[in-house]
Amino acid sequence: MKITVIGTGYVGLVSAVCFAELGHTVIGVDIDEAKVAKLKEGVSPIYEPELDDLLRKNIAAGRITFTSDITEALPDTQVVFSAVATPPNEDFSADLRAVFIVAETVATHADHNIVFVNKSTVPVGTGEKCEDIIRKKLTERGVDIEIAVVSNPEFLREGHAIHDTMQPDRIVVGIPQNADWAKKIMEDIYKPLTRTGKPILWMKRESAEIVKYASNGFLANKISFINMLSELCEATGGNIRDIAKGMGMDDRIGPRFLQSGIGYGGSCFPKDVKALIALSRETGVPLPLIEATHNINQHQRDRYFKKILTALPTNATVGIWGLSFKPRTDDMREAPSLDLIPLLLEAGHIVRVFDPIAMDNAKSMIKGEVTWSANMTDAVTGADATILLTEWDEFRGVDFTKLKTAMKGPDLFDGRNIYDPEEVKAAGLMYHGIGIV
Ligand code: NAD
Repeated sequence: MKITVIGTGYVGLVSAVCFAELGHTVIGVDIDEAKVAKLKEGVSPIYEPELDDLLRKNIAAGRITFTSDITEALPDTQVVFSAVATPPNEDFSADLRAVFIVAETVATHADHNIVFVNKSTVPVGTGEKCEDIIRKKLTERGVDIEIAVVSNPEFLREGHAIHDTMQPDRIVVGIPQNADWAKKIMEDIYKPLTRTGKPILWMKRESAEIVKYASNGFLANKISFINMLSELCEATGGNIRDIAKGMGMDDRIGPRFLQSGIGYGGSCFPKDVKALIALSRETGVPLPLIEATHNINQHQRDRYFKKILTALPTNATVGIWGLSFKPRTDDMREAPSLDLIPLLLEAGHIVRVFDPIAMDNAKSMIKGEVTWSANMTDAVTGADATILLTEWDEFRGVDFTKLKTAMKGPDLFDGRNIYDPEEVKAAGLMYHGIGIV
């Protein structure tokens, strides 16, 4: 199958490379020429474990190429996956401009039947809007071809994206009415995975669009639920880790996404929860659990930052471990570090930072003067406080006695609740976790 993937970001590039690995012939298209130039050389513009090797292997095998010119890709292609970004607007709605531009561009240049697949996360009804844009353009051109608009939302997790794409729990595909030919093409694309037992769930396009938001809304809700209880623990002397353990062993609940911390960040949960709130306002359908999820997340971040700012001495030196929104990625979108660092600088503190992978991305996003440390020890040597913001594995095995000796002050802020408070205290440090007093 000849596949075009438009948008070679975290989702598009991984999808493109995995489709190539599954034996398809793939062209990745991106408007960012610098990105395309790197990709042509076999260099991934993003950090994702295993991606570099797979990219180079498939370029060498001639199964994947890249271009910034969509007209180079379309003539041979049977299916176009759109994986452009859908960031939040000020009013919380999803910014769909890139999706609509891509739909229109495909309709402007196509000269044969094509399946247009929305892989981006888009609110329910977007498929229909793409269909309208495409129909209008084809009519304007007087071209008699069919472009079927399919929804195939992506569920990969950054940091595990290759695994999630090659071993998906499920593949969700929403097909428009009377488009059996498109269904057949989608079946063929995913045959290498369905042959190994991975299920495709066929559904109405509207349902597929909703499934993606429902999944992210539910997971974000689980995080906000445990974070909400962390404040109750702090007020009453409970320990949130024990609450999570006690709840998680009930297999109707399960242990995952019950880790209390400074709240969710990243490019998906915050924006998808916001988009659901916008959808609720637009449709008049109340989604109070979703509104609460968002508010708790904001509150959790704010109250932990307040705790840090209150505890620090004046003009403190602070060492920050971790900048990306979560481990195993260089993605800085909606990372807590982006909110905390300006607050620290504004309060007159000196900030040193270290992240194993995200420093390059962070440099273009963090405003103000910080010291970019070469390693985790440099970041905290002589510091009044250490603040863990991202739970990279290498921050887990800390020798607290050595940390105490290296630091000037006693405060360790564990923004991800990964350390044992007793061990930290035994080394003479002050432990500041979440939901643990
Ligand atoms: P991204 O910002 O990493 O990548 C988007 C890419 O699209 C960029 O490289 C950009 O240059 C390119 N682009 C924008 N407009 C274009 C155009 N007109 N033509 C060609 N290329 C264009 O975004 P992402 O994180 O990969 O997310 C893409 C979509 O997938 C979003 O809707 C997101 O919600 C969804 N999603 C993301 C994840 C994730 O973990 N990142 C997981 C599941 C779903």
